[in-house]
Amino acid sequence: MTRHQKPSSSPTRRRVLQSGSLLLLLGVAEIARGATIVAVRVWPAPEYTRVTIESDGALAARQLFVPSPPRLAVDIEGIELNPALRELVAKVKSDDPFIAGVRVGQNAPNVVRLVLDLKQPARPQVFTLPPVAAYQHRLVFDLYPQQEIDPLEELIAQRLQDTQRQAGTAAAPAPDPLGELIARQMEHPRPVPGLPPATPVPPVIARATPTAPVAPGSPPPSSTRTDRLIIVAIDPGHGGEDPGATGVSGTREKDVVLRIAHLLRDRVNATTLNGNPMRAFLTRDADFFVPLNVRVEKARRVQADLFISIHADAFTTPAARGASVFALSQRGASSSAARWLANKENAADLIGGVNVAGVRDAHVQRAMLDMSTTAQINDSLKLGSSMLGQLGKFARLHKGEVEQAGFAVLKAPDIPSVLVETAFISNPEEEARLRDPAYQQQLADALMRGIAGYFSRNPPLARSRTL
Ligand SMILES: [Zn+2]
Repeated sequence: MTRHQKPSSSPTRRRVLQSGSLLLLLGVAEIARGATIVAVRVWPAPEYTRVTIESDGALAARQLFVPSPPRLAVDIEGIELNPALRELVAKVKSDDPFIAGVRVGQNAPNVVRLVLDLKQPARPQVFTLPPVAAYQHRLVFDLYPQQEIDPLEELIAQRLQDTQRQAGTAAAPAPDPLGELIARQMEHPRPVPGLPPATPVPPVIARATPTAPVAPGSPPPSSTRTDRLIIVAIDPGHGGEDPGATGVSGTREKDVVLRIAHLLRDRVNATTLNGNPMRAFLTRDADFFVPLNVRVEKARRVQADLFISIHADAFTTPAARGASVFALSQRGASSSAARWLANKENAADLIGGVNVAGVRDAHVQRAMLDMSTTAQINDSLKLGSSMLGQLGKFARLHKGEVEQAGFAVLKAPDIPSVLVETAFISNPEEEARLRDPAYQQQLADALMRGIAGYFSRNPPLARSRTL
């Protein structure tokens, strides 16, 4: 994988012209001359929908967002309408949360106009990415909802759905972990030195939640009345523009790890530990890209008790094999292979593609997250060896002990976090196993037993915020 460096990468120039409040014009300094579109891709997800236009030269685009009816018009300069671009129309699925349809046309010689008709008002972000890995130049439109989706709200809504479903069949009144979760969030946000505290749950959530009679100022529910909800953040690696590694038979890491994550979620959600229900939270639940720092932030927002990142990477040689588990290291990597892998994982944002406008914040956040504590790493090592012990019962292990390196995704200062390499997708035998639904179940079972084993020796209540 070669990374091409664009010789004349001048900084993006941003101009905003306003005509009433309707016109937003975003200019890019470099004007493309005769670039050809090589691919278009659409990544729909409730969190945001991304449209990527890949070309063999840098593109300049001007965008115009019209709020009523909501649509985004983009003029792309220096290109002619070609079949690759026309494909975009068919690539938008009817269930896309944001895009109702796409129209493309040659607006003027050398200018293609693209209109995205939207299903809801959106906050568009338009930006370009220089060539990286297998990609050439990319022009990206991200459509975010006007009201940002709050991971905690999402978790609460899922939990509520399940509780209501169970209410029809349960003979005894179910415990109220949902109410407890909300109360906990409102009463005891966990401050982390140097990090801004998580935003308190807006009161609207409590109001919209019939099982949560918690009003600001009212005493928190007593521990005898409610159980403590144990939250496990499951992080399927890669996604969207970042496929992760690909096996010789074409298996993509991002797909396999999402399947394993779903199987693990089912097991977590069906598990109760000493009367405490467990709940899984997925950092991504579809094929879209989530930046590394956002994965960490989501887990912190839902106050996860554990963070488990699931991968199936390639190695430099097809002979490499076996499962491995990694924890964070603050002082270098435990092996050169671990360092190599961490560097590769940490490059995910470049391949997945983040908006440069957000990079400064990401740097600040990363610097703050560098304050991870020794306690977090110790707990992560314990969790990792519990998982490794279970994986070793049926899978070959790459190394018999938990390895350590500076993985950006493991940097939540307050959440024990591990990264599990379930197998090497670059090994043809292991790729075949990763595709096997029975083997995927075995992996999920082992991870679940690893989690339960860890909690049996390190009860979450002992470390928890008070009820
Ligand atoms: Zn990976």
